[in-house]
Amino acid sequence: MGPKKILLTEDQMPRQWYNILADIKLNPPLGPDGNPIGPESLAPVFPMNIIEQEVSTERWIDIPEEVLGIYKIWRPTPLVRATALEKVLKTPARIYFKYEGASPPGSHKPNTAVPQAYYNKEFGIKKITTETGAGQWGSALSFACAQFGLECEIYMVRISFDQKPYRKNMMEAWGGKCIPSPSPATKVGREILEKDPNTPGSLGIAISEAIEAAVTDPSGKTRYSLGSVLNHVMMHQTVIGLEAKKQLEAINEYPDIIIGCAGGGSNFAGISFPFVLDKINGKQIEIYPVEPAACPTLTKGPFVYDHGDIARMTPLLPMHSLGHAFVPPPMHAGGLRYHGMSPTVSQLVSEGLIEAKSVTQLASYKAGVLLARTEGIIPAPETNHTLACVIDEANKAREEGKEKVILFNWSGHGLLDLAAYGKYFQGELKDFELSDAEMEKSEQVFANFPKPKLLKSR
Ligand SMILES: *Cc1c(COP(=O)(O)O)cnc(C)c1O
Repeated sequence: MGPKKILLTEDQMPRQWYNILADIKLNPPLGPDGNPIGPESLAPVFPMNIIEQEVSTERWIDIPEEVLGIYKIWRPTPLVRATALEKVLKTPARIYFKYEGASPPGSHKPNTAVPQAYYNKEFGIKKITTETGAGQWGSALSFACAQFGLECEIYMVRISFDQKPYRKNMMEAWGGKCIPSPSPATKVGREILEKDPNTPGSLGIAISEAIEAAVTDPSGKTRYSLGSVLNHVMMHQTVIGLEAKKQLEAINEYPDIIIGCAGGGSNFAGISFPFVLDKINGKQIEIYPVEPAACPTLTKGPFVYDHGDIARMTPLLPMHSLGHAFVPPPMHAGGLRYHGMSPTVSQLVSEGLIEAKSVTQLASYKAGVLLARTEGIIPAPETNHTLACVIDEANKAREEGKEKVILFNWSGHGLLDLAAYGKYFQGELKDFELSDAEMEKSEQVFANFPKPKLLKSR
């Protein structure tokens, strides 16, 4: 019997992030005229030091000392062997998870919130605007802004604002200002409210509002921040996988299978990209992003050029998409309700380096409850999707009699999602599936956009 928990000391923490743009090719972002855009066109939205990271093709990027100092509040995170789960499943698989619920806001998101706040501060920015779905990103950015003395303004998707009041309180505890979206505070918000006063909102709407608020601030000292999807966000999260690699090395293990849920792709990228590099160099690993069947961006959405937001303020990005006007059904995994997917994750799917899976809402909660009763931690609803896939793979290993090593990312705890667990126990949660007719309607929005090229990185 090996150890339950594999820990690193603070000085074993990675000193650099891994940038996958050194190893894969991406279609460029396009402007409204269909031509590739240069970094300068993003300058009203992001500070230049972050834009430089967004387009960098350096393989390793130094983590600033100030960022390492704040990471130390909760990093390195433990790698835990899910021995109790292995036992109830009677699987020969060895299952390990990286526990990212250990951060103050309770998810992996501060891994990027902290460097983003740091770079904004370095650039002389005073206030950051953003959107949040379930409230995880808003609370992570509020926490990070408090560390650097920055103001933080968060547009929170209406349905989550109503379902999760404690997330708002959390943002306020760190000094953030939380506004339900769509809101009358922006032009985009007012237009949407006029058409549909009862809209549950969507991340696509909230992103439009947050960008508008940043670029129209007359002081010029406000920028916008995105918690997932973009290249620099994926890169900041690789600290997860780089730590996991060291921890597995310490006990002479190497994963056969890597699993992470995917909303915009960041926690999945964090755990998997350092291993995708090994796969590009010839290693055999199965790598699975997992998404909700109700918002099946990778498994049903095509690989296209689309906007990241409803008002089409973002450039056209090459990604799997359900259409920028897509308003997902009201399921309880706010962090997975996004119409698009990170261009890097989308590119890896299109090249067959990783293979997307989908899980229904009820199957995900069933898995989450089993983990709560075995490993003891109550998972975030997003993480539940990962867990359903982990259990499937562990069962497969048993049926095949194979000693597989499974690594997954436990992206967050569910202690602020207990209302959703309550509904599950009351039998009030249901499964949603997107009909083909809805899909077709939703996809109309990018029918006339340019199409990304099929690129091969190896
Ligand atoms: C936000 C969130 C996700 C989904 O976002 P990604 O960018 O795809 O990682 C997953 N799990 C938790 C706990 C989250 O807060």
